[in-house]
Amino acid sequence: MSFPPLFHSLSTLKLSDKTVFFRILKEYVWPYRCQVILAFLCMLMFSGALTILAKLMEPIINDIFIQKDETKLIGISVLIFGAFIVKGLGLYGENYFMNYVSLHLVMNIQKKIYDTLLKTDLVFFQNHPTGDLISRAINDVSMMRNSFTFALSGAGKHVVSVVCLVILMFYQDWVLACISFFAFPSAFYPIIRLGKRLRKATTNAQQDISALTSLLTQVFQGIRLVKAYGMECYEKNRLGTISEEIFKHVFKSVQSRALSSPIMETLGGIAIIIVVFYGGSQVIAGGKSPGAFFSFITALLLAYEPLKKLSQVNSNIQEGLAAASRVFALLEMKPFIVDKKDAQVLGKIKGSLTFENVSFSYLNRDGTRRETEALSNIDFTVSPGETIAFVGPSGSGKSTLLNLIPRFYDVDNGRILVDGFDLKDVTLSSLRKNIALVTQEVTLFDDTVLANIEYGKEGASFEEIVEAAKSAAAHDFIMELPEGYQTLVGEQGIKLSGGQRQRLSIARALLRNAPLLLLDEATSALDNQSERQVQKALNNLMKNRTSLVVAHRLSTIQKADLIFVLHQGKIIEKGTHSALLAAKGLYAELYHMQFLEEEILKNKK
Ligand code: ATP
Repeated sequence: MSFPPLFHSLSTLKLSDKTVFFRILKEYVWPYRCQVILAFLCMLMFSGALTILAKLMEPIINDIFIQKDETKLIGISVLIFGAFIVKGLGLYGENYFMNYVSLHLVMNIQKKIYDTLLKTDLVFFQNHPTGDLISRAINDVSMMRNSFTFALSGAGKHVVSVVCLVILMFYQDWVLACISFFAFPSAFYPIIRLGKRLRKATTNAQQDISALTSLLTQVFQGIRLVKAYGMECYEKNRLGTISEEIFKHVFKSVQSRALSSPIMETLGGIAIIIVVFYGGSQVIAGGKSPGAFFSFITALLLAYEPLKKLSQVNSNIQEGLAAASRVFALLEMKPFIVDKKDAQVLGKIKGSLTFENVSFSYLNRDGTRRETEALSNIDFTVSPGETIAFVGPSGSGKSTLLNLIPRFYDVDNGRILVDGFDLKDVTLSSLRKNIALVTQEVTLFDDTVLANIEYGKEGASFEEIVEAAKSAAAHDFIMELPEGYQTLVGEQGIKLSGGQRQRLSIARALLRNAPLLLLDEATSALDNQSERQVQKALNNLMKNRTSLVVAHRLSTIQKADLIFVLHQGKIIEKGTHSALLAAKGLYAELYHMQFLEEEILKNKK
């Protein structure tokens, strides 16, 4: 049977520049239109003052230098001073409002990225390296900020300045103005080609930076393994290769960007030579006043700098769009596991659970379903307060089964019911509020012990947290930590032992006080003493709630109300511990094998 893809893939999603550009304008710039208008008015102030300064060259040369008219000295000085004040204020205002807009743009996009990623399905994270996602959220967004700040702020100001100065030039001498701009259109073709080259180099560089972030994340997370296996040199080479690729692509983009300057320099030089020849000969022949000529050439020189900057705007926009299309691809990611339109809010449940003919298979990287099912035709019912255990060889589907209950994945066939409600008919948040999860790989945040336990119930009082820690047999060791409940546990709880980490996660689950408990191999990695403490904590945790337990140590689940034996995704045996032993099937085989292993270990000691 073939299924449609069930997750979006970042690598296959391509958005057109036009889509990205209009989305940026509509969703992120339009809400700040008042600030954009104010910035534009400030640009007009700046450019108007600049043009007035160029125009003032005419009376300075004609009245002060040639006619030596002393009465004009004060008036012209006051005008120059006033023009500089207005120009300064315009520049400040334009910078203020445009940065306000571009920084808000970046902040809002970043917030949207966090929101999108937090809502995205688990399967999306399993198919995209964390480093790539981090790189898009940080590197690409910061590249967008740099490019768009320049494009919005710089380009706007430069365009208005050039327009004002060109108007003055045409006013002074339209023939000379036409001649001086004759050469500039020839710059368009090379500048557009350079922009395309830059775009490609930037996209490649950003992809390499993603790969580097991804590799660094993995290497730092696995640093213990890297050291233990002496793989420092191997990792250094892998990182070095990516760094060289980044150098190659960034250098290519720098070259492309730098090339636009000499093009404009040469054209600027040609324009000035023409103006000096033609205008100079007119002044010599007496057809034009020296003041009008100087005013013209001042406007041309003043227009030249912003014109040169404008030639880089295309490069900046190309860089920004390359980064933006990677960022917007991320924003396109929509979760598939969502609330139905008319989903009901599930109150606190009693704790009955039913699997009705449930089948499930994982996805391939291209989003299609795998041929072999991880779970096939699973059927069982658990009554409130019962403890059910799942055992079976590695890869038989035990963890997968637990993961279907909080809807980390949706079933392909059949249905799962809690208190008679189909999981798909209730809201995700109300369903997950009824579930506490304890896994073998304990997840702890780099925060205090207190905050890590409180994660189970936001806003829990200190007394509630201590109570949970006591029931989880964690209070005593917490009190021995240097700062008690305020001790920082380090990334993934690195400063605690395996057993301590697990007891913290049990305290968290106890605090949650959910009617449905999912326990995934919580004691399999511990020594005997830690296991006893954790087991005590677990017994407290399992009291008065429906518990589904996956355990490798069969000794820990002997008291379970019912044990299911899974093999290749199917339930092949079920019964109590003694009934299953008597049946002499797979369970009895697994149990005797483990018993024998434990005896051998004991004898060795
Ligand atoms: P173990 O006791 O070793 O933890 P298990 O019984 O819990 O194993 P599962 O983790 O449920 O087994 O895995 C069942 C099957 O699904 C295995 O063949 C496994 O390779 C596959 N599988 C598990 N997780 C994923 C995943 N995220 N993507 C694709 N396949 C997966």
